[in-house]
Amino acid sequence: MCEIGEIKNLASASREEQTRFIESFDHVLSDMDGVIWTAFKAFPDAPECLTRLKNLGKRITYVTNNTTVQIDEIHRLLQRFEFPGDKPDVVTPSRAYINYLKSLKFSKKLFVIGGKGLKYELKQAGFDLAETSAVPLDETLPALMGALTDDEEVGAVIVDYEINITLMKLQKCLTYLKRPDCLFIIGTADKTLPFPRNGPLIGNHYFVKLLSELSERTPRQMAKPSPDYNRFIVENYSISNPSRVLFIGDSIEEDMKFAGVGGYKKLLVLSGSAKKDDVVRWTRGQDAKPDYYIDNLAALNLILGMAQSRSNRKI
Ligand SMILES: [Mg+2]
Repeated sequence: MCEIGEIKNLASASREEQTRFIESFDHVLSDMDGVIWTAFKAFPDAPECLTRLKNLGKRITYVTNNTTVQIDEIHRLLQRFEFPGDKPDVVTPSRAYINYLKSLKFSKKLFVIGGKGLKYELKQAGFDLAETSAVPLDETLPALMGALTDDEEVGAVIVDYEINITLMKLQKCLTYLKRPDCLFIIGTADKTLPFPRNGPLIGNHYFVKLLSELSERTPRQMAKPSPDYNRFIVENYSISNPSRVLFIGDSIEEDMKFAGVGGYKKLLVLSGSAKKDDVVRWTRGQDAKPDYYIDNLAALNLILGMAQSRSNRKI
């Protein structure tokens, strides 16, 4: 276990150390929720910070676990707030699912627990989705039993975040997962999602656990912190030297663990789920331990601005 206070605030590091840090990476993988924005409202100076990094020659790629909105919409929001980046620079589990299913030449139906954004991406990619009835079931056991018939056309179950998740949808997943040839794929599996008011929101962890236990199946996760999601990024975003890649994230369980899996440098921001207490009392092991933490991207922007003016003075 690490000692208290071992993780340094980048803002308190010496100028030389800050410069060494800035020069230590060429590619930034940045989480979105809790890092660049919250509830799709940009944090102050976050667009400027990422633009500065881009102008310094760093490649910027956004890596989120959020599939609730489609990638077109995320791109539109990036543009609206003047963040750098185009559509291909946004990585979501939707992209990883599609890539994986296409690699298998998957042609059966998908049963999806997930939001509109995910369903849109899957349909756009040409996949056939098994529809769930919009009409609530009669609250009787015979009605429930009648509805739980298997559909052998369903070849994969994807469990992601869905606001309208129901007992019936979970039951259907279990029915399909009884067939060993039915793929079991999951996205985010957090216990909770940070939310400014009336939160926390219930995360997918509990639903995934329930389905794994009752089906006695281990799902393939295509979201942070899974190695499969990292493999997708490494193969599709030309990462040849992970030690020259910086991951910026607000979650220890998702982002810092994922950065550990990928062998990336780690910068933890305190503008989302991780709090100061997490960094002063580090108990989570070395793999997920951030190299530095910083309050938010505004503080990083300040450091980048000062480093830039120092190097301009030298010229
Ligand atoms: Mg986040």
